[in-house]
Amino acid sequence: MGKIKSKLFAAQFDAACTPKADALCPLCERPIPDGHLDKHHLIPRVKGGKETEALHTACHRQIHAVLSNRELETRYNTVEALLTQPDILKFVTWIKTKPNDFLPAFTPKHH
Ligand SMILES: [Zn+2]
Ligand SMILES: [Zn+2]
Repeated sequence: MGKIKSKLFAAQFDAACTPKADALCPLCERPIPDGHLDKHHLIPRVKGGKETEALHTACHRQIHAVLSNRELETRYNTVEALLTQPDILKFVTWIKTKPNDFLPAFTPKHH
């Protein structure tokens, strides 16, 4: 369906160790517009995690809608692992078809 741009993205991401204005979301590989940048702790802060990734607010919400802090800490503590989670992968595939600043309406079940 969509065009694959992950190779280009990977090259850009390697060079982007320091925060930049035009950050790319490592989950959906799209630029993050102003006001849509969330910091996600790969290992939850309450578990002592310090490393963060800049994600779209929408992508970040999806992670926490699908996974508990325990699952994040023990299994999904890298972007690669997050992308193996079927509900997250389905969301990412879908959100790539939307505008970069698209923010779906969420109805949080638990938090
Ligand atoms: Zn988070
Ligand atoms: Zn994203």
